[in-house]
Amino acid sequence: SAGSGDLPPDVWEKVKNHPCYSEEAHHHYARMHVAVAPACNIQCNYCNRKYDCANESRPGVVSERLTPEQAARKVLAVASEIPQMTVLGIAGPGDPLANPDKTFGTFDRVFKAAPDIKLCLSTNGLALPDHVARIKDFKVDHVTITINMIDPEVGARIYPWVFFRHKRYTGKDAAKLLSERQLEGLEMLTQAGILCKVNSVMIPGINDDHLVEVNKAVKSRGAFLHNIMPLISAPEHGTVFGLSGQRGPTAQELKALQDKCEGEMNMMRHCRQCRADAVGLLGEDRGAEFTTERIESME
Ligand code: SF4
Ligand code: SF4
Repeated sequence: SAGSGDLPPDVWEKVKNHPCYSEEAHHHYARMHVAVAPACNIQCNYCNRKYDCANESRPGVVSERLTPEQAARKVLAVASEIPQMTVLGIAGPGDPLANPDKTFGTFDRVFKAAPDIKLCLSTNGLALPDHVARIKDFKVDHVTITINMIDPEVGARIYPWVFFRHKRYTGKDAAKLLSERQLEGLEMLTQAGILCKVNSVMIPGINDDHLVEVNKAVKSRGAFLHNIMPLISAPEHGTVFGLSGQRGPTAQELKALQDKCEGEMNMMRHCRQCRADAVGLLGEDRGAEFTTERIESME
């Protein structure tokens, strides 16, 4: 990922305090996620809705669901105890933009009470073009889109359906619609000067070779960082690739693919696939210190 030497100053300003966008920052700055967004507008074959969205977070984890009021209170409590906490992200447990009232309701409260906290969100991208204006209003500088394919043939093997404007789409139509919306949203963010990280879940035998094409496509549309994450195979949690389940990539396969893409753009290699309610520096989770009971007693 990026260092201070190779970036224009205005971009470095946005990167230097964000632990996911700068490998240097991740030793010094903390982020927190609040799990306010339960619903989703698509189905990924690797997902079971009861657990965190695999687009950003490690799947198979049950995060603590909060209302926007509870979430904002928790953010302020954490900020008062962990001064390195510079970023609030909303990453699930479903899709933040499939729950716009909850996501933006949380942003609104935090933005008013603690304007120094940077807001960040991750999405599957289906609803993204409809929300770019609001994302700008909250001065969000960082958005993550999960893009696993640009080819509907590949997409049809990953997404059984998407739900868009009161209609359910399946097969290649679903994948084509999702891909168009993702790339349109990415271009809109780039034009608005918002840094965009693309997450891709590497699924052996499904999209592993294809992710090199995805890397080129997102780079040409202005993505800042590409984070290729391994599928975490969890058949007991309902990953439904075939009867025998779907394996995740080996560490060597993942690294080989990241190396293949490295010449093209900045690759993120320090992602920890954090929980949708993670708190603290990357790799540590202090979420358990901030229970609802404790936060209420702090007021
Ligand atoms: Fe699950 Fe996230 Fe995919 Fe929605 S976008 S189906 S929550 S993995
Ligand atoms: Fe950063 Fe990855 Fe954790 Fe998101 S899941 S907060 S990108 S380290």
